[in-house]
Amino acid sequence: MAIVSARVRTAQMVASNVIHLQIERPDGYAWQLGQFARIGLNVAGEEVFRAYSIASTPESDTIDFFIAHVTDGALSPRLHALQAGDDLLLDTEVNGTLLPSRLEEGGKYLWLMSTGTGVAPFIAMLSDRALLDQYERVILVHGVRTWDESGYLSRHIVPDPKIQVICSVTREEGAMLTERIPEALESGALEKIAGIAIEQATSRVLLCGNPGMVKGVRNHLKSRSMVSPRAGKPGQVLAENFWL
Ligand SMILES: Cc1cc2nc3c(=O)[nH]c(=O)nc-3n(C[C@H](O)[C@H](O)[C@H](O)COP(=O)(O)OP(=O)(O)OC[C@H]3O[C@@H](n4cnc5c(N)ncnc54)[C@H](O)[C@@H]3O)c2cc1C
Repeated sequence: MAIVSARVRTAQMVASNVIHLQIERPDGYAWQLGQFARIGLNVAGEEVFRAYSIASTPESDTIDFFIAHVTDGALSPRLHALQAGDDLLLDTEVNGTLLPSRLEEGGKYLWLMSTGTGVAPFIAMLSDRALLDQYERVILVHGVRTWDESGYLSRHIVPDPKIQVICSVTREEGAMLTERIPEALESGALEKIAGIAIEQATSRVLLCGNPGMVKGVRNHLKSRSMVSPRAGKPGQVLAENFWL
């Protein structure tokens, strides 16, 4: 592990509570789709670091993040104050197990289920041609409270006939889904909209974001015999929680 200084190339608010940061990629810095970086700032003489999923592909010359503003948070409000040309701290060791390459081979449908900025690693995945080519369809499910929290996706996902985006908006009208993701899975509404069933033989599922969503979906998928890879046994589900 080494901490280096890295420069912000662009800093843009993409929703009222989400900033998109593009960081200059330092020489030799490498990552895989689905991994996260630790970035930080010096706060009152102390280095404060947090994990953020990387939203750009491994070929990109910037390391991209989508970061929610957490009221009274130790780091995120300070990251929201960054501007192009500012520096931040970057841990050169990348981590994470939300790697599509860990999923059991042979799936036809890749489901990417997220809440809020949990969509970040999926933005990178949806830009990766090799990953899209592995599946017949890729279904991105984005759970948010308001439309504003999801609107930026259309600017960061290149339309592709293989990609279907389903938003669950819980506090405003007009979405295809108004239930939270676990309830929409339980009721069958999610699969009805997608027009495909989530089954062990054909589907692979990645989950990222709010631990309530992750737990609810995981438990439901277990009842369909869909589990995470473990001790050399193949699995169809991988998850990343943003907090405990
Ligand atoms: C592997 C991993 C990847 C992550 N990737 C991202 C990412 O890509 N984008 C991102 O915005 N956050 C991400 N997070 C969360 C991030 O690490 C911080 O926890 C978050 O920015 C809050 O930090 P803070 O110091 O401002 O708040 P803290 O003072 O540390 O407060 C933490 C609390 O903030 C809330 N919180 C944390 N993250 C979020 C969030 N995303 N949305 C709403 N509430 C939240 C939770 O209640 C949590 O208990 C990730 C976390 C992990 C473990």
